[in-house]
Amino acid sequence: MRALNRAYARLPMSVKDGEWKLSRAFVCGEGRLDAKIMLIGQAPGANEDVKGRPFVSISSRFLDRLLLSAGIERSEAYITSAVQFFPPKNRAPSKSEINMCRRYLEMQIDIIKPKLIVLLGSIALNAVLGIGPIMEFHGVMLQSDGASYYPTLHPAAAIRIRRNMPLIEGDFEMLGSAKDIVP
Ligand code: URA
Repeated sequence: MRALNRAYARLPMSVKDGEWKLSRAFVCGEGRLDAKIMLIGQAPGANEDVKGRPFVSISSRFLDRLLLSAGIERSEAYITSAVQFFPPKNRAPSKSEINMCRRYLEMQIDIIKPKLIVLLGSIALNAVLGIGPIMEFHGVMLQSDGASYYPTLHPAAAIRIRRNMPLIEGDFEMLGSAKDIVP
């Protein structure tokens, strides 16, 4: 993934020193380059910013559990986020930030060429497929341009809002059988 880091180095200084002032790291995706499954979240949080790795906090441990319930080891998948930087003050990334990072996301999808992309939450769903809200599409396998997409809730949304818990658990249970029949 060095190519992505070089691309970050070429970002205009105004971007690196301006909007992303509180972000320390370019948090690139992580995982097998030949992964069949790719997970896309929203944006790194404060812990990810410190470690420079995606999904390393509480919601990440929950995500690992959900993956296991679907018969997927985290190490088999490739994990990244729609936005590659910690949005200052942990706010949701803005449209312009999502647009700015789209090329990094697309680069990763091009490199990995996953059979199945799991979209974690509204930001990922909208950034990748331009649709939403997540409550309308979660748990439904979608096809676009020859790839399969499976939107579900972001794990942090289920931890924050407990009534979302059975929804995300149900989605991953269904993912367990759906992942083996994607074209
Ligand atoms: N949430 C995300 O969407 N991405 C991360 O990297 C961490 C938490």
